Amino acid sequence: MMSTAVTTSHDAGLNGGAPTAITPATALDRAGIRPIDDYLNLGEAEIYERIQEAKQKLGERVVILGHHYQRDDVICHADLTGDSFKLSQQASARHNADYIVFCGVHFMAESADILSGDHQQVILPDLAAGCSMADMARLEQVETAWEQLQELGLTSLMPITYMNSAANIKAFCGRHEGVVCTSSNAAPLFDWALKRREKLFFFPDEHLGRNTGVKFGIPLDQMVVWDPRQELGGNTEEQLKNARIVLWKGFCSVHGRFQARHVDDRRAEYPGIKILVHPECRYEVVSKSDLNGSTEFIIKTIAEAPAGSKWAVGTELNLVNRLAKRHTDKFVTLLAPDLCMCATMFRIAPENLLWSLENLAEGNVVNQIKVDEETARWAKIALDRMLAIQ
Ligand code: SF4
Repeated sequence: MMSTAVTTSHDAGLNGGAPTAITPATALDRAGIRPIDDYLNLGEAEIYERIQEAKQKLGERVVILGHHYQRDDVICHADLTGDSFKLSQQASARHNADYIVFCGVHFMAESADILSGDHQQVILPDLAAGCSMADMARLEQVETAWEQLQELGLTSLMPITYMNSAANIKAFCGRHEGVVCTSSNAAPLFDWALKRREKLFFFPDEHLGRNTGVKFGIPLDQMVVWDPRQELGGNTEEQLKNARIVLWKGFCSVHGRFQARHVDDRRAEYPGIKILVHPECRYEVVSKSDLNGSTEFIIKTIAEAPAGSKWAVGTELNLVNRLAKRHTDKFVTLLAPDLCMCATMFRIAPENLLWSLENLAEGNVVNQIKVDEETARWAKIALDRMLAIQ
């Protein structure tokens, strides 16, 4: 069996979106692996049929995971759909599945590798499917910031990373008695952390951190933003000493696009409409909304809403479109009129999925995502801590 694995290592400094160790295509061809170029000009119907055939051939040996933000022509092939953490947990419970094909982005595939069994191999159909938010916090930047904060005497500091971060950042939290959180459990984890330490250091999403801090009753002026490109993150010593939460300057390129004026516009356009947003949106948007919560919360809220109700949803375009199609008894629209999808997740096209599956069916493991043992061990400690707390 041939294998093209991308090993992710905290020492190597690789993070979410930029895996580098890719075997050149010519070498792959010589090794008997089907080249991706052969798939780029196939018709939609042929791709669909061949994906189904490859799935059938692989049977229970493969499980295809589809993140909620994935495009329709890919998610239609998924065995399981969900958010990244739920998917990773469910896939690891499928013991017969030797191959976990993750139609998501790089940090999600890393999490699946960390949580999966030793015999399971995780495949990301396109290695360029990264996450701009995860890329905003690199390990060396976080370590430098941590050292500077410690030098200031801020030693009672708890590191918390959002699930949407590279494995080496999760491992950093594991090593420093910190924890990972998701958008649905951030508030109880903040509570847990603040009972143990005076301050929180939260990365990589400034907005989720601030919105959670507010939910938890922390005033805005007790939250400062750490910009890794500036000395002391762009803060004075006094500001850092007075802060309860230090927020990493990072954001989601999808949710960060929603503006407070979009809320006003939708309310004016559709009187009585409810505004439902993800907490990765800016504070100004979340504070003007009616409800905010994780992707799973958004899906459940729309599903349980009364017929005839109207919703403007501030999250990824593919998901909002699917919700609108699924719940025709309600009016569901995107919060902003302009396009708002996760461009990196969109890179996983049906062609890439087919290429991965046909190679797997022939015994060739392509685009494997493998987190090195040491990083995986510490990252899992931070993930396990999260599970034990919530
Ligand atoms: S939606 Fe945002 S946080 Fe999620 S994968 Fe895309 S860029 Fe990253």
